[in-house]
Amino acid sequence: MKSHLLLESYCKALKLPTVWREYGRLARECGQKNRGYAAFLQALLELEVQNRSAKAVERRLKEAGFPTEKELADFNFMAIPQLNKLRILELAQGEYIRRRESVVMIGPPGVGKTHLAIALAREACRRGHRVKYHTATGLATEYEEARDNRTVLKLERAIERRDLIVVDELGYVPLGQKAAENLFGFFSKCYERTSVIVTTNLPFSQWPQVFHDERMTGALLDRLTHRVHVVEMKGESYRLTGGKRRSKRDNNEDEKRES
Ligand code: ADP
Ligand code: MG
Repeated sequence: MKSHLLLESYCKALKLPTVWREYGRLARECGQKNRGYAAFLQALLELEVQNRSAKAVERRLKEAGFPTEKELADFNFMAIPQLNKLRILELAQGEYIRRRESVVMIGPPGVGKTHLAIALAREACRRGHRVKYHTATGLATEYEEARDNRTVLKLERAIERRDLIVVDELGYVPLGQKAAENLFGFFSKCYERTSVIVTTNLPFSQWPQVFHDERMTGALLDRLTHRVHVVEMKGESYRLTGGKRRSKRDNNEDEKRES
């Protein structure tokens, strides 16, 4: 009994909750299987390591602030045949993040830009990267509030701590002059330091409309496209075509039921 209590306090002091939770069960198992002390210790520490890294992934996913839990496995590549699946799977490996490169996904609404951006970013969390999701307007608002509260430095430090930042829906809502300047500041901050995934419905030629100023847009595109992977997503809205397919299947099932 006494050694049990001692073990508990040692595990607490060393922050080894899994060792504390699992040592009894594992000791019995190893005893039954006649496995030695070294094998027992190895299996026990392995559990602790696995648990710790699973928790770290959970934490990174939570801190990223994704609005939905879209995964690559749920993305139907058949629905958008001109998209190079291998290229997306390669991006999912995250080498672009280590090289501080960026991704711009361009396409009309509903083709799966947000889905893919989140899926890639969640994959990055699993591979140990620190990630943050923003909509373009949300990010601009955060900057504006930070300027009002004189906390821009703090916001920028938080940005610098990330390896990958998603800026979703750039160009959907026209930006005011201030918002455009703030986003310009953001992209400058990220240049060659933090990877970004931008999703947008606008081809690059129309970006001056979003950022008002031709020169500012030129400078921004210069930075962003310096090391960029452009993913063009052409096609019909998945919501609409998916809906059509679903209602057709429902109709078929209705017919079956009737006959
Ligand atoms: P976008 O950001 O391009 O407007 P979304 O990513 O929001 O489009 O996609 C709209 C909805 O359709 C989402 O629920 C998304 O999960 C789904 N969707 C879009 N494309 C696909 C696809 N190829 N496979 C599976 N789901 C998709
Ligand atoms: Mg979207």
